[in-house]
Amino acid sequence: MRILAIGAHGDDLEMFCGGTLARCAERGDRVFMCVVTDGRGRPKGELEQIIAIRKAEAEASAAVIGAQPVWMGLPDGGLWVDEPTRHLFVEIIRECQPDLIITHPADDYHPDHKTTSRLVMDAAQIARTANYPSRFPPHRAVVPVAFMEPERGIGFIPEEYVDVSSVWEKKLAMLDCHRSQLMPGTYDPAFTLPPPDQNLFHHYAAALGTFRGLAVNTRFAEGFRFWQAANRIVTHRLLP
Ligand SMILES: [Zn+2]
Repeated sequence: MRILAIGAHGDDLEMFCGGTLARCAERGDRVFMCVVTDGRGRPKGELEQIIAIRKAEAEASAAVIGAQPVWMGLPDGGLWVDEPTRHLFVEIIRECQPDLIITHPADDYHPDHKTTSRLVMDAAQIARTANYPSRFPPHRAVVPVAFMEPERGIGFIPEEYVDVSSVWEKKLAMLDCHRSQLMPGTYDPAFTLPPPDQNLFHHYAAALGTFRGLAVNTRFAEGFRFWQAANRIVTHRLLP
């Protein structure tokens, strides 16, 4: 299978579906980890340098599970639903030809998350259109869109769960690649990660992963919902 995961910011995919992507990679799927925005939002620093650091962090994280990174480089905090942006999403979907797309739920907290979700759904449909002007062939397959957890899992009731207990250390290793996001102020190349019991990302991941795991009697799990729409529904399970 080919899995295209699209997250608004570097670290989103790791936090909300990193374990699932690790399990997909382990079963032999081709995994694409697409980061939509350039990460200029934080930490504080010179923009070009921050963007280069965020891109390198995303690439390092994808390498942990052997996924292919896809860097869109759109402005962090400046993402809009418009035709040129939707075209970029269409081209990525057509180029990757996924069997499953994973992205943010539509009602997540951050405008970049909400806009990414909307752009993915719109582009997934346009990617099917036969005569749409594109460098790539139409993506005619029935391709489900799975919504990963919103920030802190608020208001989200999963329909499917993935047991990620066996790949939990990989998920944490992916999160650890995004060390710039734990820096309190200005970018500091000498910054070292806090110990695991004081690492905020580890705390968030463990809290949500444990809670979802409780629902399915496993140590750690990740939850998903699916877009209920024409061309998006299949009769078999795609997640690991
Ligand atoms: Zn985000």
